[in-house]
Formats: sequence, structure tokens, C-alpha cells
Amino acid sequence: MYDINKVREDFPILSRTVYGKPLVYFDNGATTQKPLCVLDAMREEYLNVNANVHRGVHWMSQQATDLHEAARETVRKFINARSTTEIVFTRGTTESLNLVASSFTEGCMQAGDEVIVSTMEHHSNIVPWQLQEQRKGIVLKVIPMTDEGVLDLQAYEQLFSERTKLVSVMQVSNVLGTINPVKEMIRIAHEHGVPVMVDGAQSVPHFAVDVQDLDCDFLAFSGHKVYGPTGVGVLYGKEKWLDKMPPYQGGGEMIEHVSFEKTTFERPPLKFEAGTPDYVATHGLAKALDYASALGMDKILAHEQDLTHYALQQLREIEGMHIYGHVGDSGDAVISFNVGNIHHMDLGTLLDQLGIAVRTGHHCAQPLMDRLGVLGTVRASFGLYNTREEVDALVSGIKRVVQMF
Ligand code: PMP
Repeated sequence: MYDINKVREDFPILSRTVYGKPLVYFDNGATTQKPLCVLDAMREEYLNVNANVHRGVHWMSQQATDLHEAARETVRKFINARSTTEIVFTRGTTESLNLVASSFTEGCMQAGDEVIVSTMEHHSNIVPWQLQEQRKGIVLKVIPMTDEGVLDLQAYEQLFSERTKLVSVMQVSNVLGTINPVKEMIRIAHEHGVPVMVDGAQSVPHFAVDVQDLDCDFLAFSGHKVYGPTGVGVLYGKEKWLDKMPPYQGGGEMIEHVSFEKTTFERPPLKFEAGTPDYVATHGLAKALDYASALGMDKILAHEQDLTHYALQQLREIEGMHIYGHVGDSGDAVISFNVGNIHHMDLGTLLDQLGIAVRTGHHCAQPLMDRLGVLGTVRASFGLYNTREEVDALVSGIKRVVQMF
């Protein structure tokens, strides 16, 4: 049984007011709130255990190392990776994507080789590849999208050539909520002998993602979007690829032996983890994943789908409403829209005055905005703690704003 009132008690920030009105937090696609168990665990670690990891023989360093490495095992289990050696801690999805763009290009690509991305990607899955276009002469190919916000899989198949070395696609769009058929896309890519990187920033928080079932070669996600702390993220990578890729950064922790003549590196994952990791954040992330697992990812999904369907139904009745994507109610818990001629910023600002936090703008997906023919949208994105009453508040808020215009 999903007890939403009990869940909300775990997130005290949700009961605060803004401008004297109850907060309605619908900006979960940008970042999520943290349950008390995450905050308590991190405070406890700073209070009683804090010491640098991996290097110390002393008691607290070993305790901190144990927590950090236990967090790696929690992440492994959460995404069902084969081994903790496939779990690299990063600062977030952006760093995970940059790591692969940089190291995979260097280790596994030549000038003229091609990477396939999609029209709907976040800038963090476009710009790192463009940097490699400039630096290494790789070539970016783009999967087109239909007007309904669905990737064109036939066109995708035709993009493959003997120069294709990697596909990098998002599992869920942070704008449209579209759930891309990544399992099928991976199967197609593998038929061409091409590995696939999945941007899981907007999928991992919403439903169970099983890297072995998907058979993806890489998966990236951010801790702060899955009820964990900021500044920590994950790169999953199949061992065979991580072994082939050179280090991303150099420094402490990632070496086996250093001399001025020759330096040898640790094996993955440490090879990709130069410097002191945010070991308190990794512990916090593990607590967040444990929290989500205890609720049940299937129950979180069902709850958020109910909210999304409920919201779509009501939003569609508002005059002048234009919702992007969500054909046949198939999308995830992210709804982007514009209403009549009201500028998205005005709508967002007026909703804010009513205590409703939504996102406005291009959502770091300007090529997608160009494809949709808009400068920006208003985006409401739901989390495990949102309620139907909050959706009602959003709908009546939009209606109020519409009346003002
Ligand atoms: N990819 C997608 C789909 C996202 O939604 C985001 C965050 N908006 C990112 C990547 C980047 O995540 P971060 O800023 O946490 O690195």
C-alpha cells in the first residue's frame, strides 16, 4: 500500500509555504527533494565518521571507505549490474556523459568515425560530442523525431554505417516525457556491432532500470534527481569498454604506480575516479536508492502514472492548452505545455506567485525546441511524493492565469 501522507512526512520541505501559500513542488525533473533518512545519514557521517577514503589505515578512514564501497554495491544492485567494478562514481549525468565522450573517443574512435544521438537530447548529450567533433574530427548523426515527439526508428536504422562507433540516447525525455524504446534501439545497434550509452537521468528516478535486461553498454544518472544529494552521479559501463578506455582525469586514487618515467593505472572503476570522491554523497545516494527500493519502484511508477494521467486529463480541458508529446498517454511523469499566446516565462512566474514551482524555458534542449518550433515551454514534472490535490492546484492556477490574459 502506497501511503502518500506517510511518504510526505519523510520530506519536511514539502510542508513549507512560499508567499504564504502551500508549496507545490513540480520541478522534480530539475532536482528532487531529499528524505530525512538521506539527510540524517550524511549528517551522521560528517559528525562521527568523516575521514578520507581508500588511503588511510586508521579506523575512521576504513569506516568511511566501507560506507563508500557499500554505496557502490547498493548502486550495482539498484541497476542490476554484474559487478561493482562496472560502477564509476562521477559528479552527475553530465560528468558521466563527458567522461564517455572524452575517453571512448580517445580509446575507441578515429577521425571520421560516427556517433548517433537523437533530436530530443539534453545539451549534456550533445555538447560533449560536439567538443569531440572539434578536437578529434568525429561526426555526429541525429535520429529525427516525429511531430508527436517519438523517435523515428526506421530513420535510426538507416543512420548506421561502417563508421558508426557509438549510439548515445536518453531513455526518457526531460521535456516530452517520451519513453524511448531503448531496449529495441540497443538490439538494433548491437546487430551493427555498435555499443549504446543510455542517459538515464530521467528514467532511473521513475522506474526500475535493469542494465543487464537492457543490455546497454553505458548508463548515466544523477543522484540529485533520484532523491539523493547533489554532486554525485553514476556511470555504469560494461567492463570490456571500461578496460579499453583511457583515464578521464589524472590524480590520486586512480593510479597503481607513479614515476616520472612511467605511470600505471588502477583497474576500473578507480581508474576513472581521480581525486577524493564525495564519499558522504555516495553514502547519501545509497540511502536514497534504499528509500526508493523500500517503497518499491513499481509502486512509485504506478503512483506517478496515476498523477500523470490525472494531470493530462485535466490539462487537456483548458482552453488554448498545447501539450508536447504524450501521444496515447504513453509518457513518463513530465508534462511540457504552452497555453494560448501566454509566454512560458509569464505563466511560470504567475504560477510561482501561487506557490507552484514549475520549470520554464528550453530545458537544456534547444535543438528539440527548434524541432517543436517554440522558444520554450512550461514543464511540470512529478515525483514520488506529489498528490492529486497538487495537480488540482496546478490546473486551477493555470485557469486563473488564463483568465488574467
Ligand atoms: N540528461 C537529462 C535527460 C537531464 O534531464 C539532465 C538534467 N536536467 C541531465 C542529463 C544533466 O544532469 P545533471 O545536470 O545532473 O548532470
